[in-house]
Parts: sequence; structure tokens; C-alpha cells
Amino acid sequence: MKTAALIVAAGQGVRAGGGVPKQFAMLAGKPMLAHSYGTLIAHPGVDEVLVVIGEGQEDALAAALGPIPFVIGGAIRRESVRNGLAAIDADRVLIHDAARPFLSPDVIDRLLDALNSHEGAIPGLPVTDTLVSAAGEPVPRDGLTRVQTPQAFRAATIRAAHDSWPQDQDATDDAQMVRVLGHEVAIVEGSRALEKITHTADFAAAEARHAATLRVRTAQGFDVHRFAAGEELWLGGVRIPHSHGLSGHSDADVALHAITDALLGTIGAGDIGMHFPPSDPQWRGAASARFLEHAAGLIAAQGGIIDFIDLTIICEAPKIGPHQDAIRARIAALLRLPAARVSVKATTTERLGFTGRGEGMAAQAIATIRIAETGE
Ligand code: MG
Repeated sequence: MKTAALIVAAGQGVRAGGGVPKQFAMLAGKPMLAHSYGTLIAHPGVDEVLVVIGEGQEDALAAALGPIPFVIGGAIRRESVRNGLAAIDADRVLIHDAARPFLSPDVIDRLLDALNSHEGAIPGLPVTDTLVSAAGEPVPRDGLTRVQTPQAFRAATIRAAHDSWPQDQDATDDAQMVRVLGHEVAIVEGSRALEKITHTADFAAAEARHAATLRVRTAQGFDVHRFAAGEELWLGGVRIPHSHGLSGHSDADVALHAITDALLGTIGAGDIGMHFPPSDPQWRGAASARFLEHAAGLIAAQGGIIDFIDLTIICEAPKIGPHQDAIRARIAALLRLPAARVSVKATTTERLGFTGRGEGMAAQAIATIRIAETGE
């Protein structure tokens, strides 16, 4: 059973987004669209994520998320969803609005679970505000639900709903179109964090709400590699001229390995050897920048923000001082951080021990991140 997710991000309105369509505007450290994209792509129950963008938004998408699959939407939301449905090959589909960035994996779990017994499922929250009509008459709120996205469907059902819908009419949402065909759509528990971002003020409120859910975590990493003649010396992603290089299965960048382990530690994701086993020939001579970017990607996929990296390189030679700024700039660039959030230090061990004898180098790193508590 294959599950695809469509993220509808085709809006052209720039009012709430500070000059760019709001789905590409920065929110809590990254473009709004990147939040729900990261959650969906990281979810084990989702096999494929396709973004539906507006005409002319190809560059904005590439700038926000790099080269990822997309289709071009239509003039109205219903057409955008239909274009997306036509481009996926799946048994089940989640249809999500980019304007609801803070999607949590448990909402996806509940939706997919409900699809086992229903043709469709949507997240909702009970209405708690007092409601009145335009004439001031109280409206009973019992049984009323605020509907959110993603809306989840068996693919054949939602395709049939779109195919049979009158071309000259828009629809309030996809669930409505499925109900018209006579299917019951399950309502699962939504999330307050999933609120839609519509106005400029919503950005500030979402920013503050998101920050309040994050907790600081720190973790450390440590690595050692042996000096060998005839090897290149790579340190912090920078090639450094020296009589010896470090030997190892990859490029043996001891500094990036320590930082990678520190980052993996913040999310309890094991160590670098588990993700890139030395026994796997594909990592022979690999650039360690890849390992670092992988660890950073895992944190980003959980909505985490890297706040600070502190690195200490331990060796007698070469002198690190002349390369400190270049190493700092390279690590910052790889992690997409300002250089002010990366610290690079170096020390000797007073000619004591293996580093003191020049047999190898060591590196220690501490990573500080903020990430939402999962409650697990
Ligand atoms: Mg290593």
C-alpha cells in the first residue's frame, strides 16, 4: 500500500508573506512550506511527497527546498489538487495546505489509521468559542468542528470525487467532495499547532507559539583519526596543506565527524558509524560534509533548530590558527548557520599522549539545538 502526500502551495498572495507568497516566507527559521514538507517526508507511513506550486514559482520552490518534485497548480484550489492527484501513483493520499506549517507526526498517524476503516479522514478540533449568526442569534456549537488539513483519502475515492465535481463550481474542501459521493469521512483529533496562517499577525503568533514548544538539548561528539603519509588532510570541510593526512574509510575529517556525532546525539539518533557503516564501500573516500548534512537534515525533519556548534581540534601540528576562520565559515555554510553560531577552537596536549606524539588527531564537539518535545 503506497501513500503519497500533496502539499498545496500554489497561492500567489504576498500580503502576509512580506513580499513573497506566504508559503515561501520565513517562519521559525525556514520557509513556511519547509515545515510540513519536512514532517511528511520524514514520516515512515508516507512514501512520496509532491508539492503543488503556482505558475512562475519554480525558482522560489528551489530556493526554499532545493530540487524536489512539484507540479503546477490551477487557478483555484480544487484545480491545484486535481493536478496533484493526476501526478501521483499511490493507494492513499494526504492533501495538505502549506499554510498549516506545524503538522505533527501523530496527526498523520491518526489519519492513516482511520483510512483503514473509512474512505476519507480529516483532522478537526471542537469549536469552543460562542458562535452567533449575523443577526446575533446564538448558534449551537455542539457537534461543530473546526476542520484542518491534511485531509486523507483512498486515492481512487478522491479521484472519483474530483472527476465528478461540476467544473464551474469550487468546493469548500476535499472532504466535502467525498461526502457528496455518499462516503462517510472520519474526523480524527487535530492539533492547535496546525492553525492556518492567513494574516501577517498570524506569522508573529505562530513564531511565538512554535518557540514556546521548543526545548534546548545539547550533545557531544568525539572522534580520533590516525595520521598517515600520502593522505590529504581534511579538517572541518577544508583541505589543509600538511606533511600528513588522516587515514580512515571516508575522507577522515575528524572535526566533521565529531560535529556529526554531536548533532546525531541531540536527537538520540545513534552515531555516525550506524548511519554510514565503514564496512559499506559506498562511503570509501566520501566527503564528510555529506555526513554532517545528513545529521542536520534529520534534525530539520523533526522541526529542530541548530543554535550553536562548539568544536575543539586537538593536535600538535599543523597549526590550526591560520585555518580557523575558513573552517568556521565552511561548517557554518554546511549547516546554513551564520558564522557567529559556530565556534572553532584548537589545543595541543603538551606533547603528551598520541596527539602529543603526532600519531593522530582528535576532535570534540558540542551541539546545542532546540526541538519540540515529543512526549515519548
Ligand atoms: Mg571518524
